[in-house]
Amino acid sequence: MENQNKPENSFESIYVHIPFCEIKCPYCDFNAYSDVDHLTENLINSIEKEIIYWGTLFENQKIKSIFFGGGTPSWIESKYIQNIINIIKENFNLKKDIEITLECNPLDLTKTKVDDYQHSGINRFSVGIQSLNDKTLKFIGRNHNRKGALNALENLNDKKAKNFSVDIMFGIPYQTVAEIKETVETLIKFNPTHFSSYSFTIEPNTPFHKFVKEKKIKELDEDTYIEIFNTIYSTLKKNNYTNYEISNWALEGYESIHNSNYWDNKNFLGVGPGAHSYLNEIRFSNIKSPKKYIQHISKIQNNSNSQINNFNEFIKTINFVYDHEIITKDIKQKEYIIFALRKNTGLSKSKFNNEFNENIEKFLPENLNNFIDYNLIKTNDDIIKLTDKGKLLSNELFREILYPSGK
Ligand code: SF4
Repeated sequence: MENQNKPENSFESIYVHIPFCEIKCPYCDFNAYSDVDHLTENLINSIEKEIIYWGTLFENQKIKSIFFGGGTPSWIESKYIQNIINIIKENFNLKKDIEITLECNPLDLTKTKVDDYQHSGINRFSVGIQSLNDKTLKFIGRNHNRKGALNALENLNDKKAKNFSVDIMFGIPYQTVAEIKETVETLIKFNPTHFSSYSFTIEPNTPFHKFVKEKKIKELDEDTYIEIFNTIYSTLKKNNYTNYEISNWALEGYESIHNSNYWDNKNFLGVGPGAHSYLNEIRFSNIKSPKKYIQHISKIQNNSNSQINNFNEFIKTINFVYDHEIITKDIKQKEYIIFALRKNTGLSKSKFNNEFNENIEKFLPENLNNFIDYNLIKTNDDIIKLTDKGKLLSNELFREILYPSGK
């Protein structure tokens, strides 16, 4: 019998973390740095070494998506992205219709760079527009303005980059309904295939957190927040975008393959400093500091899958892995429910019962009917879905599933 603890050859998605940014935005708590450009060459070499390391362990893996995130992967020279794609190609089998996404800052999307990326195999761009309002962009400390954002979109259109997503942010202090409407309507004119709309959050240990504590800025009032949220929803809906996941909208056929993989609870490999992976029921993450990551990677030795008897024990021996967590059945079941509720297809009770051989009812909050009464969820015999209002208040429902108050 096969050893159950050996790594299963089943991940199809690779995330590459590029931690560089031109400036560090004051609201950002990502693993991103604006003062380590001198490490670029070394860091890219280390990421390539890490890819080879995993490639030796999981040879012949078929890959359906690669996602360059960060940080700002477009900040570094395009040749580095090309090099990483080449190394992935040499170490894994890329599916013919693979999706390769690059997160970009609008200021980096010159025509030359778009050209370079397209030649490297990038076939999906994710552009961090956030807003087209100069006052708002300045307030959140972004290094681009409206003109720079529109210029990037023009370049993508000129270069016939068909598949691109735009990030927008809502709920920013002082943001107005009129400005978000104008932003979304203007963006739609450039024909993005996808929108990601994220709620602005004040993260601990960021300059913005300090500003709020010191009462230097005031969070947006609830009524405006709700109106802004509804405006985004109605504008995108009217323009044929489907809200296939709480924060994500796509034209038909342009749902992100890479992100859908996360929401379907599937395995994925993350490479680079601070990158997370999920393999063999274990979630683990790499050392965050680019400098320490480089130092640790320089000492690794390649193993082959056949030498690993227990993946859980093996993970502990990898020197560039910072921490790991075993995803127990209980965690998996709860995450399954939450991910399913985040998607527009909803949560199928029968699918859950089949997948886990366990009745879903014990995982659902006792006060579920309250959520129905308040029009936050709708159900039929099998499917539970969030309503539009429920999406706005989803965190309360998810909290109730994770930490039930009545049980
Ligand atoms: S560009 Fe993105 S990753 Fe970089 S600091 Fe700003 S929000 Fe963070």
